[in-house]
Amino acid sequence: MKEKAGVGRREFLSKTVAAAIAVPAVLAAGANAAHAQGDAPKPGPERTGVRTKKIAIEEHWANQELNDLRTEWGKRTGYPITVDPKAIGYSFPRTPDFEKFRIPFMDEFGITMQVISTGSPGVQGYADAQTAVAKAKAINDAQAEIIRKYPGRFAGFAGLPTQDPKAAADELERAVKQLGFKGAMIQGSTDWQYLDETKYWVIWERAAALEVPIYLHVQEPSFDSAKIYAGHPELTGSTWAWGVETGTHALRIINAGVFDAFPKATLILGHLGESLPYLLGRLDEGYFMAAKSGRKLQKPLSAYFRSNVLVTTSGLYRPEALVCAISAMGPDRVLYAMDYPFVQPKASIECFERTPMTDADREKISHLNGERWLKL
Ligand code: MN
Repeated sequence: MKEKAGVGRREFLSKTVAAAIAVPAVLAAGANAAHAQGDAPKPGPERTGVRTKKIAIEEHWANQELNDLRTEWGKRTGYPITVDPKAIGYSFPRTPDFEKFRIPFMDEFGITMQVISTGSPGVQGYADAQTAVAKAKAINDAQAEIIRKYPGRFAGFAGLPTQDPKAAADELERAVKQLGFKGAMIQGSTDWQYLDETKYWVIWERAAALEVPIYLHVQEPSFDSAKIYAGHPELTGSTWAWGVETGTHALRIINAGVFDAFPKATLILGHLGESLPYLLGRLDEGYFMAAKSGRKLQKPLSAYFRSNVLVTTSGLYRPEALVCAISAMGPDRVLYAMDYPFVQPKASIECFERTPMTDADREKISHLNGERWLKL
């Protein structure tokens, strides 16, 4: 942070502590109850039968080409497909379908609208820039066609050909202005080049100008980190490695000063913020102590989570985690998401409906925040 900003470490820490203890009593009670009950995902009041209207914003689709791309990308990079469809009961073959599975699923679980996007690796999976640029257009056009076909049920995040950053910014603008998309979803790194690098700032600049968010989706970690996972394949994928990779990527973006340069840029993180809301105090403390990079942010690191970051509930069904995210981010910065079709829908709904929070906050998180931030 800038010395001139005049926020001393002590003043800053006291503000942080004040924010941390200003947790509504009902949330604190919910967290305690969740802890006391161990694994049981039912800490709050019973809300059986209560279904808040939901807009879900990390919901994936694919066509055959995207599913094939995933296989090809796995071969090219050496990464196998790490999601076992059998393990969760909702399989890849369901991603292209809208009428047999998806819309009945949405109706069953009270999802009035899905904001759809491709899953990983999406456009980031193409090896060369020229192909990525052409394919991104085709994929976004196909997605726009789906959205047009079912009025009111779907909105979209664009896929961007980050292999050519200027073209990615142009495609974002086309997708927003011509196709009506609500932002973009970038599938993590582009062959392990990260979005904090200055060549990508053209994308942040355009997103800020268009006032649309960029959703940073989980991705496989670089093979540079392979040693720590050696002998522990169970820790790769959604268990741990994706979240660490994506959380690190988000911290790189913040620490590079992207949001100082583009204060109107917005980053969305899934999985309740990839653990980061839990760690804000630690991040600030470490940042003040280290300062090895010579980088100077304009604000405490944690402050960017309340000015430029939104988190979603995708794929994480623990009330204590949701309570933490709401406390750390504020109720305006948490948005409902499922992560269709890679979800346990009942667990997602039950966790959301039973986690103690005010009715006003439940309405915000389930749909009002989505409507506001994505201009739905
Ligand atoms: Mn996802």
